[in-house]
Amino acid sequence: MSFEVRYTDLAGRIGQLKTMHGNLETPAFLPVVHPVDQVIRPQFMKDLGFNAIITNAYITLKRHKEKAIQMGIHDLIDFDGVVMTDSGGYQVLEYGDIEIGPETMAKFQLDIKSDLPVILDRPTGYRLDYGRATDFVEETLLNARSTVGVIKAQIDHRNHLAADEMSDIKGPIWVGTIQGAEHLDLVKYSTKELAKIGFDFFALGSPVEVMEAYDFRLLAKMILTAKEFIPNKPLHLFGAGHPLAISLAVALGCDTFDSASYILYARDNRYITPYGTAKLNELTYLPCSCPVCSVHSVKEFRSMDNSTKTIELAKHNLYILKLEINVLKQAIMDGRLWEYIVQKARSHPKLMEALAYIKDHPIMESGTRRFKSKAAFFYDSIDCYRPEAKRYREMVARFQSSKSHVLFYPEQDLKPFYSSSQYIDLIKEYEGYQICSYSAFLGIIPVELCDIYPAAHNLSNQANDEMMEYSHDEIIKALKAFLNLNHFEEVVIYADKGVRNSLNRNPLNHNNITILEYEDNRR
Ligand SMILES: [Zn+2]
Repeated sequence: MSFEVRYTDLAGRIGQLKTMHGNLETPAFLPVVHPVDQVIRPQFMKDLGFNAIITNAYITLKRHKEKAIQMGIHDLIDFDGVVMTDSGGYQVLEYGDIEIGPETMAKFQLDIKSDLPVILDRPTGYRLDYGRATDFVEETLLNARSTVGVIKAQIDHRNHLAADEMSDIKGPIWVGTIQGAEHLDLVKYSTKELAKIGFDFFALGSPVEVMEAYDFRLLAKMILTAKEFIPNKPLHLFGAGHPLAISLAVALGCDTFDSASYILYARDNRYITPYGTAKLNELTYLPCSCPVCSVHSVKEFRSMDNSTKTIELAKHNLYILKLEINVLKQAIMDGRLWEYIVQKARSHPKLMEALAYIKDHPIMESGTRRFKSKAAFFYDSIDCYRPEAKRYREMVARFQSSKSHVLFYPEQDLKPFYSSSQYIDLIKEYEGYQICSYSAFLGIIPVELCDIYPAAHNLSNQANDEMMEYSHDEIIKALKAFLNLNHFEEVVIYADKGVRNSLNRNPLNHNNITILEYEDNRR
């Protein structure tokens, strides 16, 4: 399997996956295409920029077996891009079809030339008791081993390759499904076992109900649990068709997503927006200018017959999902994924809960570049967790000064600090002092380190002392740590209002300290 990561930010990444039917740039959203009852032409999706779709191999087998084998899945559904096939674990259960086993499904997916076939899994769903969830995970792993038997036999037969050769670039990329849902130790076990079996591409199963319950924090936990063991492998998230879930999952390092949300929501008169969904009959205006919304008003939408309305709504929904992926990719390129996720989190309290959970996780730093060409923006206290800020504070925590006197001064808009007129004045008055500026987000900034990213390249919100109370307390914490590490005889602090208030709450323990009032004339 070839999966090349090109750009990263947080744990998000832009990658290139090589398949039998061309390269797929990730993150990618794969709309669900029904093999029998599809209302939007798959080729329309391709024209819209969806280079991959997912369809159901089980339903295809039941309804079009011979035709599908003869034509191949691409011609059968008329799509010349990348086709992933879900082996239909849910449907097999739903119809109680015991005749279809993992080997049959594996052979069939090979026969129809699926690019990304999925093993026949046993979805744990959500809120399944632990004992049964364990049985389902074991059954999925058993299926995975049976599938590998089929793959090896096929590779032997075709290429006379060694039986242990799992990654045949001319063949499909097999997808191992991680089950376990909210039982995180099962998610962990499932991931480790699938990796041992030899899968290179993973899919996280059973998150649909978790997402429907808006339990984004649990979703984040599930993704983080799986990612820990397979950080560099591509990871698919099943059933993620909501822009909020997609943005969170991309930030945590999921690469592909699929959903039928575009059509399911459309049938339910639901209109996807970048921040959630709206009921069509609750809208007065259409907050979108896609080709569908540009030519229809809400009134026109409502007066359409049901099938036209469903199709038009579904097309709009697809445009929004495409937009979401494009915006996320650009945010990764710009190194602004953090800002984007925080913005998204402001649109739903449950997403903010998830962000609060992941904000300090090491994975958020894993793909964040050390140097960025664009300034980091800091708005409020959550931005103290921005990986660039954390990394900077950790660096300063190891800084040791050779000076015996120290002066602290508020960060200025003009950066680096040594190029500001304030600094020029200060070094005249305080010759030989260790000069530092301080920031609510970066903590202490020794002048020697003030031209390092993001100290030299950020823009922060300096206003609203009350809002920043937490951050000012963080400055005092940083000051204390800095003074503990270095043993200065004399300390001078130019304290702005926020820091003065904070110092009143948390006095510094030093016997030679001068606190001078700093009036910020920028306000
Ligand atoms: Zn639209």
